[in-house]
Amino acid sequence: MASKMKSRWADDEGDAALDAQRKREKEEKKRAKAEKQKLTDEAARQAAAAAEEKEQLQQELSSRPSKRRKMSPELEVEGEGQAAPSKDTGPAKLLRFPGGQWKKCRSVEDYEKLNDIEEGAYGWVSRARDTATGKVVALKRLKMENAQDGVPVTGLREIQTLLDCEHPNIVALQEVVVGEDTSKIENIFLVLDFLEHDLKTLLEDMNEPFLNSEVKTLLLQLTAGVSYLHKNWILHRDLKTSNLLLNNRGVLKIADFGMARYFGDPAPKMTQLVVTLWYRAPELLLGAEKYGTAVDMWSIGCIFGELLTKEPLLQGKNEVDELSKIFELCGIPTESSWPGFKRLPNARSLRLPKNPASQGSVIRAKFPFLTTAGSSLLVSLLELNPTNRPNAKEVLEHSFFKEDPKPKSTEMFPTFPSKAGQEKRRRKVTPNAPVRGKIPELKATDFSGIFAGRDDEEKGGGFSLKLI
Ligand code: ADP
Repeated sequence: MASKMKSRWADDEGDAALDAQRKREKEEKKRAKAEKQKLTDEAARQAAAAAEEKEQLQQELSSRPSKRRKMSPELEVEGEGQAAPSKDTGPAKLLRFPGGQWKKCRSVEDYEKLNDIEEGAYGWVSRARDTATGKVVALKRLKMENAQDGVPVTGLREIQTLLDCEHPNIVALQEVVVGEDTSKIENIFLVLDFLEHDLKTLLEDMNEPFLNSEVKTLLLQLTAGVSYLHKNWILHRDLKTSNLLLNNRGVLKIADFGMARYFGDPAPKMTQLVVTLWYRAPELLLGAEKYGTAVDMWSIGCIFGELLTKEPLLQGKNEVDELSKIFELCGIPTESSWPGFKRLPNARSLRLPKNPASQGSVIRAKFPFLTTAGSSLLVSLLELNPTNRPNAKEVLEHSFFKEDPKPKSTEMFPTFPSKAGQEKRRRKVTPNAPVRGKIPELKATDFSGIFAGRDDEEKGGGFSLKLI
Protein backbone atom coordinates (compact mmCIF):
# COMPACT_ATOMS: atom_id res chain seq x y z
CA MET A 1 0.00 0.00 0.00
CA ALA A 2 2.78 2.14 0.95
CA SER A 3 3.73 2.09 -2.65
CA LYS A 4 0.19 3.16 -3.40
CA MET A 5 0.72 6.20 -1.10
CA LYS A 6 3.54 7.34 -3.24
CA SER A 7 2.82 9.57 -6.07
CA ARG A 8 2.05 7.60 -9.05
CA TRP A 9 4.58 9.73 -10.86
CA ALA A 10 7.39 8.65 -8.62
CA ASP A 11 6.45 5.17 -9.05
CA ASP A 12 6.60 5.44 -12.72
CA GLU A 13 10.02 4.51 -14.02
CA GLY A 14 9.54 6.43 -17.23
CA ASP A 15 8.56 9.44 -15.22
CA ALA A 16 11.72 9.23 -13.15
CA ALA A 17 13.82 9.22 -16.29
CA LEU A 18 11.88 12.22 -17.49
CA ASP A 19 12.51 13.95 -14.21
CA ALA A 20 16.22 13.34 -14.50
CA GLN A 21 16.17 14.63 -18.04
CA ARG A 22 14.41 17.83 -16.92
CA LYS A 23 16.91 18.32 -14.14
CA ARG A 24 19.77 17.98 -16.58
CA GLU A 25 18.17 20.45 -18.92
CA LYS A 26 17.65 22.92 -16.08
CA GLU A 27 21.25 22.68 -15.07
CA GLU A 28 22.34 23.15 -18.67
CA LYS A 29 20.17 26.28 -18.97
CA LYS A 30 21.71 27.61 -15.77
CA ARG A 31 25.17 27.01 -17.16
CA ALA A 32 24.28 28.69 -20.46
CA LYS A 33 22.84 31.66 -18.59
CA ALA A 34 26.00 31.95 -16.53
CA GLU A 35 28.08 31.71 -19.71
CA LYS A 36 25.97 34.44 -21.37
CA GLN A 37 26.34 36.68 -18.37
CA LYS A 38 30.08 36.14 -18.50
CA LEU A 39 30.14 37.16 -22.15
CA THR A 40 28.00 40.24 -21.49
CA ASP A 41 30.26 41.20 -18.63
CA GLU A 42 33.30 40.79 -20.88
CA ALA A 43 31.71 42.95 -23.63
CA ALA A 44 30.84 45.64 -21.12
CA ARG A 45 34.36 45.52 -19.77
CA GLN A 46 35.79 45.88 -23.28
CA ALA A 47 33.42 48.79 -24.09
CA ALA A 48 34.44 50.52 -20.90
CA ALA A 49 38.09 49.99 -21.76
CA ALA A 50 37.56 51.42 -25.29
CA ALA A 51 35.76 54.45 -23.90
CA GLU A 52 38.55 54.98 -21.47
CA GLU A 53 41.12 54.68 -24.27
CA LYS A 54 39.17 57.21 -26.40
CA GLU A 55 38.99 59.60 -23.54
CA GLN A 56 42.69 59.29 -23.04
CA LEU A 57 43.30 59.92 -26.75
CA GLN A 58 41.15 63.03 -26.66
CA GLN A 59 43.00 64.24 -23.65
CA GLU A 60 46.25 63.58 -25.47
CA LEU A 61 45.09 65.45 -28.60
CA SER A 62 43.86 68.43 -26.67
CA SER A 63 47.14 68.58 -24.87
CA ARG A 64 49.21 68.55 -28.16
CA PRO A 65 48.93 72.25 -29.06
CA SER A 66 50.37 73.16 -25.75
CA LYS A 67 53.34 70.91 -26.45
CA ARG A 68 53.76 72.43 -29.95
CA ARG A 69 53.36 75.89 -28.53
CA LYS A 70 56.39 75.31 -26.44
CA MET A 71 58.39 74.03 -29.40
CA SER A 72 57.47 76.65 -32.01
CA PRO A 73 56.01 79.75 -30.46
CA GLU A 74 56.09 81.67 -33.82
CA LEU A 75 53.21 79.50 -35.05
CA GLU A 76 50.99 81.03 -32.48
CA VAL A 77 51.60 84.66 -33.40
CA GLU A 78 48.24 86.05 -34.46
CA GLY A 79 47.68 88.33 -37.41
CA GLU A 80 46.63 91.19 -35.20
CA GLY A 81 49.87 91.04 -33.24
CA GLN A 82 48.23 89.56 -30.13
CA ALA A 83 50.44 87.63 -27.76
CA ALA A 84 50.19 83.88 -28.16
CA PRO A 85 47.89 82.41 -25.52
CA SER A 86 49.72 80.06 -23.20
CA LYS A 87 48.31 76.83 -21.78
CA ASP A 88 47.49 78.58 -18.58
CA THR A 89 45.82 81.70 -20.00
CA GLY A 90 42.89 80.02 -21.77
CA PRO A 91 41.81 77.79 -24.62
CA ALA A 92 44.03 77.52 -27.71
CA LYS A 93 43.00 79.75 -30.68
CA LEU A 94 42.86 78.60 -34.29
CA LEU A 95 45.80 79.49 -36.52
CA ARG A 96 44.98 82.06 -39.23
CA PHE A 97 46.41 81.96 -42.72
CA PRO A 98 46.14 84.75 -45.28
CA GLY A 99 43.59 83.85 -47.95
CA GLY A 100 41.75 85.40 -50.90
CA GLN A 101 39.04 87.84 -50.03
CA TRP A 102 35.80 88.84 -51.66
CA LYS A 103 34.91 92.42 -51.22
CA LYS A 104 32.66 94.97 -52.84
CA CYS A 105 34.00 96.81 -55.91
CA ARG A 106 34.83 100.43 -55.27
CA SER A 107 32.81 103.07 -57.09
CA VAL A 108 33.78 105.05 -60.17
CA GLU A 109 32.78 108.06 -58.05
CA ASP A 110 36.05 107.55 -56.18
CA TYR A 111 37.69 108.92 -59.33
CA GLU A 112 37.52 112.44 -60.68
CA LYS A 113 37.40 112.53 -64.49
CA LEU A 114 40.08 114.76 -66.01
CA ASN A 115 39.49 114.34 -69.74
CA ASP A 116 38.32 111.87 -72.37
CA ILE A 117 41.07 109.99 -74.16
CA GLU A 118 39.05 107.94 -76.57
CA GLU A 119 35.37 107.72 -77.24
CA GLY A 120 34.95 105.22 -80.01
CA ALA A 121 32.06 103.28 -81.47
CA TYR A 122 31.99 100.90 -78.54
CA GLY A 123 34.92 101.95 -76.38
CA TRP A 124 35.30 104.72 -73.84
CA VAL A 125 38.57 105.56 -72.12
CA SER A 126 39.27 108.61 -70.01
CA ARG A 127 41.99 110.02 -67.82
CA ALA A 128 40.99 110.32 -64.18
CA ARG A 129 42.40 110.96 -60.72
CA ASP A 130 41.92 108.77 -57.67
CA THR A 131 40.46 111.30 -55.24
CA ALA A 132 41.93 109.46 -52.25
CA THR A 133 45.52 109.14 -53.47
CA GLY A 134 45.75 111.76 -56.23
CA LYS A 135 47.12 109.11 -58.59
CA VAL A 136 46.30 109.62 -62.28
CA VAL A 137 44.85 106.54 -63.99
CA ALA A 138 43.05 105.53 -67.17
CA LEU A 139 39.40 104.47 -66.77
CA LYS A 140 38.13 102.13 -69.45
CA ARG A 141 34.45 101.25 -69.64
CA LEU A 142 33.82 97.63 -70.51
CA LYS A 143 32.11 97.16 -73.82
CA MET A 144 28.62 95.72 -73.51
CA GLU A 145 27.42 94.50 -76.86
CA ASN A 146 24.44 92.66 -75.43
CA ALA A 147 24.04 93.93 -71.89
CA GLN A 148 20.90 91.83 -71.40
CA ASP A 149 23.06 88.68 -71.68
CA GLY A 150 25.30 89.83 -68.83
CA VAL A 151 28.97 90.77 -68.99
CA PRO A 152 30.22 89.64 -72.41
CA VAL A 153 32.93 87.03 -72.61
CA THR A 154 35.31 89.61 -74.13
CA GLY A 155 35.02 91.74 -70.98
CA LEU A 156 35.46 88.75 -68.70
CA ARG A 157 38.51 87.61 -70.64
CA GLU A 158 39.98 91.11 -70.57
CA ILE A 159 39.63 91.23 -66.78
CA GLN A 160 40.79 87.66 -66.25
CA THR A 161 43.88 87.84 -68.46
CA LEU A 162 44.89 91.31 -67.25
CA LEU A 163 44.53 90.23 -63.61
CA ASP A 164 46.73 87.21 -64.29
CA CYS A 165 49.49 89.28 -65.92
CA GLU A 166 52.27 91.06 -64.15
CA HIS A 167 54.96 92.30 -66.51
CA PRO A 168 56.64 95.67 -67.13
CA ASN A 169 55.46 95.59 -70.76
CA ILE A 170 51.82 94.80 -70.05
CA VAL A 171 49.46 97.49 -68.81
CA ALA A 172 48.56 96.90 -65.15
CA LEU A 173 44.92 96.54 -64.13
CA GLN A 174 44.69 98.19 -60.72
CA GLU A 175 41.08 97.42 -59.94
CA VAL A 176 37.60 97.08 -61.37
CA VAL A 177 35.07 99.72 -60.27
CA VAL A 178 31.35 100.10 -60.81
CA GLY A 179 29.08 103.06 -61.47
CA GLU A 180 26.78 104.38 -58.75
CA ASP A 181 23.81 102.81 -60.46
CA THR A 182 24.81 99.16 -59.95
CA SER A 183 21.58 98.00 -61.57
CA LYS A 184 23.14 98.98 -64.91
CA ILE A 185 25.59 96.35 -66.04
CA GLU A 186 27.06 98.85 -68.55
CA ASN A 187 28.71 100.63 -65.66
CA ILE A 188 31.79 98.47 -65.17
CA PHE A 189 35.15 100.21 -65.47
CA LEU A 190 38.74 98.99 -65.55
CA VAL A 191 41.21 101.16 -63.67
CA LEU A 192 44.51 100.97 -65.56
CA ASP A 193 47.92 102.59 -65.26
CA PHE A 194 47.80 105.78 -67.32
CA LEU A 195 50.32 106.11 -70.16
CA GLU A 196 50.77 109.32 -72.09
CA HIS A 197 50.73 107.92 -75.63
CA ASP A 198 49.62 105.16 -77.89
CA LEU A 199 51.98 104.35 -80.74
CA LYS A 200 49.38 104.91 -83.45
CA THR A 201 48.63 108.50 -82.43
CA LEU A 202 52.31 109.15 -81.87
CA LEU A 203 53.32 107.84 -85.32
CA GLU A 204 50.66 109.99 -86.96
CA ASP A 205 51.91 113.10 -85.20
CA MET A 206 55.62 112.54 -85.71
CA ASN A 207 57.34 114.34 -88.58
CA GLU A 208 60.07 111.74 -88.85
CA PRO A 209 59.84 108.02 -88.16
CA PHE A 210 61.57 106.51 -85.16
CA LEU A 211 65.32 105.97 -85.41
CA ASN A 212 66.50 102.40 -85.88
CA SER A 213 67.79 102.35 -82.30
CA GLU A 214 64.35 103.44 -81.07
CA VAL A 215 62.55 100.89 -83.24
CA LYS A 216 64.72 98.20 -81.64
CA THR A 217 63.84 99.34 -78.11
CA LEU A 218 60.14 99.39 -78.91
CA LEU A 219 60.24 96.04 -80.68
CA LEU A 220 62.19 94.42 -77.84
CA GLN A 221 59.68 95.63 -75.27
CA LEU A 222 56.72 94.52 -77.38
CA THR A 223 58.29 91.10 -77.90
CA ALA A 224 59.16 90.77 -74.20
CA GLY A 225 55.50 91.38 -73.32
CA VAL A 226 54.30 88.93 -75.96
CA SER A 227 56.85 86.34 -74.83
CA TYR A 228 55.42 86.62 -71.29
CA LEU A 229 51.88 86.20 -72.61
CA HIS A 230 52.75 83.15 -74.71
CA LYS A 231 54.67 81.56 -71.85
CA ASN A 232 51.50 81.96 -69.82
CA TRP A 233 49.32 80.43 -72.55
CA ILE A 234 47.67 83.70 -73.52
CA LEU A 235 47.16 84.82 -77.12
CA HIS A 236 46.59 88.58 -77.46
CA ARG A 237 44.96 88.36 -80.90
CA ASP A 238 44.76 92.10 -81.46
CA LEU A 239 48.29 93.47 -81.51
CA LYS A 240 48.41 96.79 -83.38
CA THR A 241 49.98 100.18 -82.81
CA SER A 242 46.84 101.70 -81.24
CA ASN A 243 46.98 98.98 -78.56
CA LEU A 244 50.61 99.73 -77.68
CA LEU A 245 50.98 102.42 -75.05
CA LEU A 246 54.13 104.41 -74.39
CA ASN A 247 54.92 106.57 -71.39
CA ASN A 248 57.22 109.56 -71.31
CA ARG A 249 60.04 107.40 -69.99
CA GLY A 250 60.13 105.28 -73.15
CA VAL A 251 58.36 102.29 -71.59
CA LEU A 252 56.00 100.40 -73.88
CA LYS A 253 53.02 98.46 -72.50
CA ILE A 254 50.64 96.18 -74.35
CA ALA A 255 46.97 97.10 -73.77
CA ASP A 256 43.47 96.07 -74.85
CA PHE A 257 42.96 92.44 -73.91
CA GLY A 258 39.42 92.34 -75.28
CA MET A 259 40.42 89.71 -77.86
CA ALA A 260 42.84 87.81 -75.64
CA ARG A 261 42.23 84.22 -74.60
CA TYR A 262 43.97 81.23 -73.09
CA PHE A 263 45.04 78.54 -75.52
CA GLY A 264 46.34 75.01 -75.15
CA ASP A 265 48.58 72.43 -76.75
CA PRO A 266 47.33 71.20 -79.14
CA ALA A 267 45.57 74.45 -80.03
CA PRO A 268 41.81 74.23 -79.63
CA LYS A 269 39.41 75.35 -82.36
CA MET A 270 39.06 79.11 -82.09
CA THR A 271 37.30 81.80 -84.04
CA GLN A 272 39.14 83.10 -87.10
CA LEU A 273 37.40 86.42 -86.67
CA VAL A 274 40.19 87.96 -84.64
CA VAL A 275 42.88 90.59 -85.11
CA THR A 276 42.24 93.92 -86.84
CA LEU A 277 42.39 93.39 -90.62
CA TRP A 278 45.71 95.16 -91.30
CA TYR A 279 47.51 93.01 -88.72
CA ARG A 280 45.71 89.74 -89.44
CA ALA A 281 47.84 86.70 -90.34
CA PRO A 282 47.24 84.89 -93.68
CA GLU A 283 46.18 81.63 -91.96
CA LEU A 284 43.32 83.55 -90.29
CA LEU A 285 42.31 85.18 -93.55
CA LEU A 286 42.32 81.73 -95.14
CA GLY A 287 39.94 80.50 -92.44
CA ALA A 288 42.18 78.38 -90.16
CA GLU A 289 40.30 77.42 -86.99
CA LYS A 290 43.41 76.03 -85.36
CA TYR A 291 46.11 78.57 -84.94
CA GLY A 292 48.53 79.63 -82.28
CA THR A 293 51.13 82.11 -81.13
CA ALA A 294 52.27 82.69 -84.74
CA VAL A 295 49.23 84.96 -85.31
CA ASP A 296 50.65 87.39 -82.73
CA MET A 297 54.12 87.05 -84.33
CA TRP A 298 52.65 88.08 -87.70
CA SER A 299 51.15 91.19 -86.07
CA ILE A 300 54.58 91.97 -84.56
CA GLY A 301 56.00 91.81 -88.13
CA CYS A 302 53.35 94.30 -89.32
CA ILE A 303 54.11 96.60 -86.37
CA PHE A 304 57.87 96.35 -87.08
CA GLY A 305 57.23 97.56 -90.65
CA GLU A 306 54.96 100.36 -89.41
CA LEU A 307 57.51 101.59 -86.86
CA LEU A 308 60.09 101.83 -89.64
CA THR A 309 57.96 103.81 -92.09
CA LYS A 310 55.26 105.43 -89.91
CA GLU A 311 52.67 103.88 -92.20
CA PRO A 312 50.66 100.69 -91.60
CA LEU A 313 52.27 98.03 -93.75
CA LEU A 314 49.30 96.15 -95.21
CA GLN A 315 46.27 98.40 -95.50
CA GLY A 316 43.73 96.08 -97.09
CA LYS A 317 40.24 97.42 -97.80
CA ASN A 318 38.65 94.04 -97.13
CA GLU A 319 39.76 90.47 -96.51
CA VAL A 320 40.59 89.65 -100.13
CA ASP A 321 42.37 92.97 -100.61
CA GLU A 322 44.35 92.25 -97.44
CA LEU A 323 45.33 88.80 -98.75
CA SER A 324 46.19 90.30 -102.09
CA LYS A 325 48.46 92.90 -100.43
CA ILE A 326 50.07 90.19 -98.30
CA PHE A 327 50.86 88.05 -101.36
CA GLU A 328 52.18 91.13 -103.16
CA LEU A 329 54.64 91.84 -100.36
CA CYS A 330 55.53 88.37 -99.12
CA GLY A 331 55.10 86.25 -102.25
CA ILE A 332 52.72 83.51 -103.21
CA PRO A 333 52.44 80.42 -101.01
CA THR A 334 53.34 77.10 -102.60
CA GLU A 335 52.85 73.50 -101.47
CA SER A 336 56.55 73.35 -100.60
CA SER A 337 56.74 76.71 -98.76
CA TRP A 338 53.47 76.10 -96.90
CA PRO A 339 52.48 72.42 -97.05
CA GLY A 340 48.74 71.92 -96.75
CA PHE A 341 47.75 75.58 -97.07
CA LYS A 342 45.39 74.67 -99.93
CA ARG A 343 43.29 72.66 -97.51
CA LEU A 344 42.44 75.76 -95.45
CA PRO A 345 38.73 76.63 -95.92
CA ASN A 346 39.18 79.82 -97.94
CA ALA A 347 42.29 78.67 -99.84
CA ARG A 348 40.35 76.06 -101.80
CA SER A 349 38.68 78.85 -103.70
CA LEU A 350 41.86 80.72 -104.59
CA ARG A 351 43.31 80.56 -108.02
CA LEU A 352 46.98 81.45 -107.82
CA PRO A 353 49.48 82.14 -110.63
CA LYS A 354 50.87 79.09 -112.39
CA ASN A 355 54.47 80.17 -111.93
CA PRO A 356 54.86 81.28 -108.32
CA ALA A 357 58.66 81.29 -108.59
CA SER A 358 58.52 84.79 -110.05
CA GLN A 359 56.20 85.92 -107.26
CA GLY A 360 58.60 85.99 -104.34
CA SER A 361 58.91 88.35 -101.39
CA VAL A 362 59.73 92.01 -102.06
CA ILE A 363 60.27 92.86 -98.39
CA ARG A 364 64.01 93.44 -98.76
CA ALA A 365 63.43 95.81 -101.67
CA LYS A 366 60.75 97.72 -99.74
CA PHE A 367 63.08 98.25 -96.78
CA PRO A 368 66.48 98.93 -98.46
CA PHE A 369 67.76 100.82 -95.40
CA LEU A 370 67.47 97.74 -93.15
CA THR A 371 70.58 95.69 -92.50
CA THR A 372 70.67 92.05 -93.56
CA ALA A 373 69.86 91.00 -89.99
CA GLY A 374 66.98 93.49 -89.83
CA SER A 375 65.39 92.41 -93.09
CA SER A 376 65.88 88.71 -92.30
CA LEU A 377 63.99 89.28 -89.04
CA LEU A 378 61.18 91.13 -90.82
CA VAL A 379 61.01 88.49 -93.58
CA SER A 380 60.80 85.71 -90.98
CA LEU A 381 58.03 87.42 -89.00
CA LEU A 382 56.08 87.85 -92.23
CA GLU A 383 56.45 84.23 -93.34
CA LEU A 384 53.18 83.05 -94.87
CA ASN A 385 53.63 79.61 -93.33
CA PRO A 386 53.00 80.16 -89.58
CA THR A 387 55.38 77.34 -88.60
CA ASN A 388 58.27 79.23 -90.24
CA ARG A 389 57.77 82.35 -88.11
CA PRO A 390 60.12 82.72 -85.13
CA ASN A 391 58.66 82.57 -81.63
CA ALA A 392 58.98 85.53 -79.26
CA LYS A 393 62.04 84.10 -77.51
CA GLU A 394 63.85 83.67 -80.83
CA VAL A 395 63.07 87.26 -81.79
CA LEU A 396 64.46 88.52 -78.47
CA GLU A 397 67.71 86.68 -79.20
CA HIS A 398 67.95 87.86 -82.83
CA SER A 399 71.27 89.31 -84.03
CA PHE A 400 69.42 92.46 -85.25
CA PHE A 401 69.28 93.67 -81.65
CA LYS A 402 72.97 93.00 -81.05
CA GLU A 403 74.36 94.92 -84.00
CA ASP A 404 74.82 98.69 -84.25
CA PRO A 405 72.94 100.90 -83.76
CA LYS A 406 72.18 99.27 -80.39
CA PRO A 407 68.70 99.61 -78.87
CA LYS A 408 68.36 103.04 -77.26
CA SER A 409 67.98 102.90 -73.50
CA THR A 410 64.49 103.86 -72.40
CA GLU A 411 65.82 106.75 -70.27
CA MET A 412 67.28 108.27 -73.43
CA PHE A 413 64.00 108.02 -75.29
CA PRO A 414 62.66 111.33 -76.62
CA THR A 415 59.55 112.70 -74.92
CA PHE A 416 56.56 113.81 -76.91
CA PRO A 417 53.65 116.10 -76.07
CA SER A 418 50.84 113.92 -74.78
CA LYS A 419 47.47 114.24 -76.44
CA ALA A 420 45.90 111.91 -73.92
CA GLY A 421 47.09 114.25 -71.17
CA GLN A 422 45.00 117.17 -72.41
CA GLU A 423 42.49 116.31 -75.02
CA LYS A 424 40.84 113.49 -76.89
CA ARG A 425 43.22 111.64 -79.18
CA ARG A 426 42.18 112.14 -82.77
CA ARG A 427 43.29 109.55 -85.20
CA LYS A 428 42.74 108.84 -88.83
CA VAL A 429 39.93 106.37 -89.30
CA THR A 430 41.45 102.91 -89.17
CA PRO A 431 39.81 99.50 -88.96
CA ASN A 432 38.70 98.18 -85.57
CA ALA A 433 39.07 94.72 -84.15
CA PRO A 434 36.38 92.40 -85.52
CA VAL A 435 33.18 92.29 -83.51
CA ARG A 436 32.24 89.04 -81.83
CA GLY A 437 29.04 87.38 -82.80
CA LYS A 438 29.39 88.02 -86.50
CA ILE A 439 30.97 84.64 -87.16
CA PRO A 440 27.96 82.87 -88.65
CA GLU A 441 27.61 85.72 -91.10
CA LEU A 442 31.26 85.43 -92.02
CA LYS A 443 30.98 81.67 -92.40
CA ALA A 444 28.06 82.07 -94.73
CA THR A 445 30.08 84.53 -96.78
CA ASP A 446 33.44 82.93 -96.12
CA PHE A 447 34.41 82.91 -99.69
CA SER A 448 32.11 85.41 -101.32
CA GLY A 449 33.01 87.81 -98.51
CA ILE A 450 36.64 87.52 -99.43
CA PHE A 451 35.87 88.56 -102.96
CA ALA A 452 33.11 91.00 -102.11
CA GLY A 453 33.32 94.33 -103.84
CA ARG A 454 35.44 92.94 -106.62
CA ASP A 455 34.72 91.71 -110.06
CA ASP A 456 35.61 88.18 -110.90
CA GLU A 457 39.23 89.01 -110.81
CA GLU A 458 41.51 90.78 -108.38
CA LYS A 459 44.74 92.02 -109.91
CA GLY A 460 47.83 93.16 -108.10
CA GLY A 461 51.54 92.54 -107.89
CA GLY A 462 51.50 90.62 -111.15
CA PHE A 463 49.14 87.86 -109.97
CA SER A 464 45.47 87.39 -109.74
CA LEU A 465 43.04 85.90 -107.24
CA LYS A 466 40.08 84.41 -109.03
CA LEU A 467 36.68 83.28 -107.96
CA ILE A 468 36.29 79.79 -109.35
P1 ADP B 1 39.14 99.53 -77.11
O1 ADP B 1 39.01 98.13 -76.63
O2 ADP B 1 37.90 100.35 -77.03
O3 ADP B 1 39.83 99.64 -78.44
P2 ADP B 1 41.63 100.20 -75.87
O4 ADP B 1 42.00 99.49 -74.65
O5 ADP B 1 42.28 99.79 -77.14
O6 ADP B 1 40.05 100.20 -76.04
O7 ADP B 1 41.85 101.74 -75.69
C1 ADP B 1 41.51 102.65 -76.69
C2 ADP B 1 42.50 103.78 -76.67
O8 ADP B 1 42.44 104.40 -75.40
C3 ADP B 1 43.94 103.36 -76.87
O9 ADP B 1 44.28 103.32 -78.24
C4 ADP B 1 44.65 104.46 -76.15
O10 ADP B 1 44.76 105.61 -76.99
C5 ADP B 1 43.73 104.79 -75.00
N1 ADP B 1 44.11 104.05 -73.80
C6 ADP B 1 43.75 102.81 -73.45
N2 ADP B 1 44.29 102.43 -72.30
C7 ADP B 1 45.04 103.48 -71.88
C8 ADP B 1 45.87 103.71 -70.75
N3 ADP B 1 46.02 102.79 -69.82
N4 ADP B 1 46.53 104.89 -70.68
C9 ADP B 1 46.36 105.82 -71.61
N5 ADP B 1 45.61 105.66 -72.70
C10 ADP B 1 44.94 104.50 -72.84
